Amino acid sequence: DAERILSSQRKPEDVDAALRPKSLDEFIGQKGARENLRVFIEAARSRGDALDHVLFFGPPGLGKTTLAQIMAREMGVGFRATSGPVIAKSGDLAALLTNLEDGDVLFIDEIHRLAPAVEEVLYPAMEDRALDIMIGEGPSARSVRIDLPRFTLVGATTRQGLLTTPLRDRFGIPVRLNFYTVDELELVVTRAARLLDLHVASDGAREVARRSRGTPRIAGRLLRRVRDFANVAGAQTVDAKVADAALNRLEVDSLGLDAMDRRYLNMIADIYRGGPVGVETIAAGLSEPRDTIEEVIEPYLIQLGLVARTARGRCLNGPAWKHLGIAPPEGAQE
Ligand code: ADP
Repeated sequence: DAERILSSQRKPEDVDAALRPKSLDEFIGQKGARENLRVFIEAARSRGDALDHVLFFGPPGLGKTTLAQIMAREMGVGFRATSGPVIAKSGDLAALLTNLEDGDVLFIDEIHRLAPAVEEVLYPAMEDRALDIMIGEGPSARSVRIDLPRFTLVGATTRQGLLTTPLRDRFGIPVRLNFYTVDELELVVTRAARLLDLHVASDGAREVARRSRGTPRIAGRLLRRVRDFANVAGAQTVDAKVADAALNRLEVDSLGLDAMDRRYLNMIADIYRGGPVGVETIAAGLSEPRDTIEEVIEPYLIQLGLVARTARGRCLNGPAWKHLGIAPPEGAQE
């Protein structure tokens, strides 16, 4: 997945930080999430309290890290970031927590990947602002409780269901992030172009937006690659034609699908007559881990209405046949 231009995972080439909106007002889209957060932030500020713990869930690249940073900024508190797999031992988390300052936001990306022993340290920390530390061994061992500063834990994960129930239950504010609409992404592209000092016509911005898989991170990346093509071609302005030519060269099709997506669709179409077919079978056929299929490839195809997840397996919908340019076989799911 890391090799794909359309990967929603952060790549070294991404200049995420430079493109990050710095306030809720500047943040495009996710209207529901944004309005709720605004209320919670204002309420916490007026009480002089720390914000309740927040869990962001949704596909990568939709703005979870950005929103966490914005929350810290709007609360006027410090921001610390780490991620689930990075915290190896419970002592590492204890060190992080005891070093927080009053009111800080602690952001833990991929929080579903915390080791169980580490996760257990989080429970009393989130609930009682306390750490329970064992001192000594054997019969003389005793537990000592250390008070922590007030803090807000902001967790990020791709799917809420990946969290254990005890962890999920300790977040007061669960916030779901959805794919962006083309209109919203057009605003994201226009804003990024301004920050990158690149002249983009509105039809050019729309073309990039349409092919960015509903994901601002991908929109930013595609825009920079389109800029490279425009520079080499000597185009002063990125219009729809320039964008289209560049994206075709990058093998990003009109719906924003790449070779991997098309392999997925073609396999269900050619071998399984449109399905239903189980995800394990698809994973084996494509030689991709099941997680990649479920987390990376399918969400956007489902969002586009090309694929349906049913109890009996995956099925192609009518628009998928149309996009592939093949007639659905007799009796295939429409
Ligand atoms: P996540 O943490 O969900 O993977 P990030 O917060 O790192 O995503 O965002 C990825 C990139 O997309 C960043 O460059 C960020 O600036 C940009 N981005 C995300 N959301 C928005 C938005 N609403 N408006 C403009 N840019 C955004």
